[in-house]
Amino acid sequence: MCGIVGYLGDRPAYPMLIQGLRRLEYRGYDSAGVALVHENGTLDVFKSKGKVADLERATQGQDVSGTIGIAHTRWATHGEPSDLNAHPHTDVKGGIAVVHNGIIENHESLRRYLESTGARFVSQTDTEVIAHLLNHLYQGDMRRALIRAMGMLEGSYALGVICDQEPNALFCARNDSPLVIGAKDGEGFI
Ligand code: GLU
Repeated sequence: MCGIVGYLGDRPAYPMLIQGLRRLEYRGYDSAGVALVHENGTLDVFKSKGKVADLERATQGQDVSGTIGIAHTRWATHGEPSDLNAHPHTDVKGGIAVVHNGIIENHESLRRYLESTGARFVSQTDTEVIAHLLNHLYQGDMRRALIRAMGMLEGSYALGVICDQEPNALFCARNDSPLVIGAKDGEGFI
């Protein structure tokens, strides 16, 4: 059972996300990752096969600043446990990052369609279609793109999404998979 975590607020997101992942470790997982929007609006992804401690080693010396981010512990269903298959997944430009708990049943047909529109996949996961689909549907409003994507995705999902075009926002959606949202005093948690 994987887990997703997201934070939006004015405190550093990275320690909060790592703490969240540690609290999900008991569920079992094979890899872990995190995506952050930095203050300058750029988005970075760090991910690693193995434990949360391996992810922390992978981020040593890296810029993990930012007050908005998403994180994931993966239990592989599509594609072996590996650095590449670990979440977050991104679109080709790397501006949209997605973490996903669940299974996208129609990922093969979506993948074929998105490849025909120019998307280039780098992982074997069902999840990567979501990042490319959001990029395909995005017209300046991620909330709208996510709602349209939900009409095309079949299967179970809890999703966390961040995007460099809307660097002050954290998006989430769910179908069948559980997702808890908390919001208080200008901070949001998933
Ligand atoms: N189906 C996705 C994958 O294999 C998500 C698995 C999970 O829920 O951790 O990457």
